[in-house]
Amino acid sequence: MESTAMMWFRKGLRIHDNPALDSARRGSKHLFPVFVLDPRYLDPDPIASSPGSALAGVNRIQFLLESLTDLDSSLRRLGSRLLVLRGDPVDVLSRILKDWKIGKLCFEFDTEPYSQDRDSKVKEFAKLSGIKVLNPISHTLFNPADIIQKNGGKLPLTYKSFIALAGEPPAPIAETYSALPPIGDLGGCEMLSIPTIHELGYTDLKQKAFSPFRGGESEALSRLKESLANKEWVTNFEKPKGDPSAFLKPATTVLSPYLKFGCLSSRYFYQCLNDVCRTAQKHTSPPVSLAGQLLWRDFFYTVAFGTPNFDKMRGNKLCRQIPWRNDGELLTAWREGRTGYPWIDAIMIQLNKWGWMHHLARHSVACFLTRGDLFISWEHGRDVFERLLIDSDWAINNGNWLWLSCSSFFYQYHHIYSPISFGKKYDPNGDYVRHFLPVLKDMPKEYIYEPWTAPPSIQEKANCIIGRDYPRPVVDHGSASKECKRRMGAAYASNHPSDVLAGEEKLNNLR
Ligand code: FAD
Repeated sequence: MESTAMMWFRKGLRIHDNPALDSARRGSKHLFPVFVLDPRYLDPDPIASSPGSALAGVNRIQFLLESLTDLDSSLRRLGSRLLVLRGDPVDVLSRILKDWKIGKLCFEFDTEPYSQDRDSKVKEFAKLSGIKVLNPISHTLFNPADIIQKNGGKLPLTYKSFIALAGEPPAPIAETYSALPPIGDLGGCEMLSIPTIHELGYTDLKQKAFSPFRGGESEALSRLKESLANKEWVTNFEKPKGDPSAFLKPATTVLSPYLKFGCLSSRYFYQCLNDVCRTAQKHTSPPVSLAGQLLWRDFFYTVAFGTPNFDKMRGNKLCRQIPWRNDGELLTAWREGRTGYPWIDAIMIQLNKWGWMHHLARHSVACFLTRGDLFISWEHGRDVFERLLIDSDWAINNGNWLWLSCSSFFYQYHHIYSPISFGKKYDPNGDYVRHFLPVLKDMPKEYIYEPWTAPPSIQEKANCIIGRDYPRPVVDHGSASKECKRRMGAAYASNHPSDVLAGEEKLNNLR
């Protein structure tokens, strides 16, 4: 029986360094590579603010479909193919595991709460049916549970303490395949072809609305190769330096969506970076280096894995309790890029159109929404990012929102990003703003970050009357940020960091 195996792809949409696939193919006469289209993420939501399902914007859905198409092509080159089914994954798996008489089920370990719940149901079914389950860790560099165990069952709450525990990650699988075992008898079960975005019900989309980043392992590996070819850039990489307004050639790798879907193995990426740095005379190091960024990823995975209610303010022992205000209108203005602050609005339009923005751009809008200007809960901002980012990642997104809102990890709430001068520092001419907000394309550079200060004659000449063609600022940054600091101070004074944080070393806030 064990010679009939199923590889259940979810994330980990790749052939290289894929321990679950490796376990599935070993000693198997037949191998069924399966992906289940989960309606939870894919079905159009008629009331969503922009095209997509309730949980995923259309850019991410498109990225997933491209990744599946690429995976299917790679499997076909190895004499196999991707078997695509649709429905609740637990129901679908329970049916096909039986119908296809599967003896060995392999899938990558996933730490997200939804996945943990789904996977435990599938494992339970497999156990009752006598099916062997192999569930290796390969989405992250390390096993989060191992790190916590090494720390005596306590969470490492700082990057420094995490690094001290982590050591070196396991090496990626070096072996490449020339063939995979053939698919067995499908018993008349009807397979879907990978649908197009239109076939999923998204019929009124303009193709050019899609993100410029194409999904799939092939694209991931060629992007990685391109980044690594510039050895000097890799060895000098230093976060948080880098221009958040660079959009024609972003200042970072843009490998996050590929890591999110597992089109790229983080262990392989890490090893490649080490190979480049090993031969260099000098190079940057964690936390600021590129390898250091991958370690930040694992840091957030570990903390998220070990923290109940990590994605909530209430019931989350790491999170400061802050009486954020409710303001639907301000939240909508922020989400739709209508705050009247061009730097903030351009970033939110980039999010809507591309599903990706530079890290410091994310800092700017997250700070603006929460403790900087609007004093709206990080949970609302998180939801917007979670839906629209193509790299949307449960652990990293929640972790960074907790950080940016000074709810956890980082507490210097007096440090606020100016929605005016921060962008200007990098891009005095406002090219980024002009690209994402064409309504401001003719605004002279003196006014591009504060168009409401332009005299009426200049606004007229620029074909952009403030209050008519582009909104006035929704708040005055000077007074709003002062009021935010006052509220943060009051909240901090009324609730002290929870006990778990006591005694932890001071955070190194360089990211
Ligand atoms: P690079 O600088 O090239 O870094 C390489 C990889 O390191 C990234 O692909 C990513 O996997 C990892 N990485 C980099 N920065 C961080 C970080 N701060 N924390 C954890 N891992 C990191 N990243 C996501 O992948 N998904 C998210 O949902 C997400 N939400 C965010 C929300 C907010 C409010 C903020 C401030 C940041 C968020 N980030 C998120 C982290 C970071 O902005 C992105 O990972 C990064 O900008 C992706 O671009 P890159 O691949 O070019 O990064």
